[in-house]
Amino acid sequence: MEGGSAVPEELPEIITNKDEMRKWSRAMRCRGNTIALVPTMGYLHQGHLSLVEKARSLADVVVVSIYVNPGQFSPSEDLSTYPSDFDGDIRKLGSVSGCRRVDAVFHPRNLYDYGIIGRKGKGGIEFEGLREEGETGLPASGVSSCVEEMGGGHETWVKVERLERGLCGKSRPVFFRGVATVVTKLFNIVDPDVAVFGKKDYQQWRIVQRMVRDLDFGIRIVGSDILREEDGLAMSSRNVRLSPEDREKALSISKSLFQAKSLAETGQTNCGELRDSLVQAITGAGGKVDYVEIVDQQSLETVGEVNSPVVICIAAWFGNVRLIDNIEISV
Ligand code: AMP
Repeated sequence: MEGGSAVPEELPEIITNKDEMRKWSRAMRCRGNTIALVPTMGYLHQGHLSLVEKARSLADVVVVSIYVNPGQFSPSEDLSTYPSDFDGDIRKLGSVSGCRRVDAVFHPRNLYDYGIIGRKGKGGIEFEGLREEGETGLPASGVSSCVEEMGGGHETWVKVERLERGLCGKSRPVFFRGVATVVTKLFNIVDPDVAVFGKKDYQQWRIVQRMVRDLDFGIRIVGSDILREEDGLAMSSRNVRLSPEDREKALSISKSLFQAKSLAETGQTNCGELRDSLVQAITGAGGKVDYVEIVDQQSLETVGEVNSPVVICIAAWFGNVRLIDNIEISV
């Protein structure tokens, strides 16, 4: 397998080629193993490892995918500055054992490269073959991701129509289309029995659950709790990009979420009031709110009163870093 031979035994097998990944999964299945997949974009932290632990409890072998998916970034977003440290990730995975052990890492170079003959252009490879003269390659809606920018002719997208519209979908119009599509690709390549997603990305978890139900994937989708730093900040690969001052200010997100939960649990169930106090706490600390929403845990529709299971979801900017966090409340 590509890259696999030079790796010491205690490290997970590294697979970069999708056919090799399929072969590996088939071989595992032939030996009677069940497979769990943990999709990630790398720059791994303890939050990711907690998903691995969950995955280990659910299947015989665990695959972690590490792939920064251009399909979920619009050209104006932070694809090029998204943190990555593949060697560090492998070291981290190699240093864990027992319930956090990983069997294989799937690390494809480009999941949207279909081997179309390219010619060298100024900015690297320019693809030809699928595009007609004069075509922009961008969808008619004018909404595009970095995949359309790359060219290459990828044109099939999975959209979970209603669930993707609100919350992060409002300010990131191509995001969930990209997530649902790359998760579909990973499911088709790795063919897992179960896949574990963090509730940190609550809307993403619900969207993947809905997609799997609607399209009859035979894969169990499991949500895993948010892992936080000791001071409450939700762990995220993007946290390293926060200045020390912004990191301190960003604590207003988790603090205000905990406070809102305890207020709701002690009878302050009006969502308008809860929302106002959350917005105030974050803007007061110097953050810029993208959204604060209190929504039904399943439908992700806004609710007016906390009298059924809800989740408070927040996205806010601190400096040039956009953070998301949430808290479930079941009163
Ligand atoms: P990412 O690499 O950010 O795309 O995340 C990969 C997976 O890890 C997603 O399912 C995330 O929801 C999950 N994840 C990220 N941060 C955390 C966290 N702090 N706690 C639990 N899961 C997390």
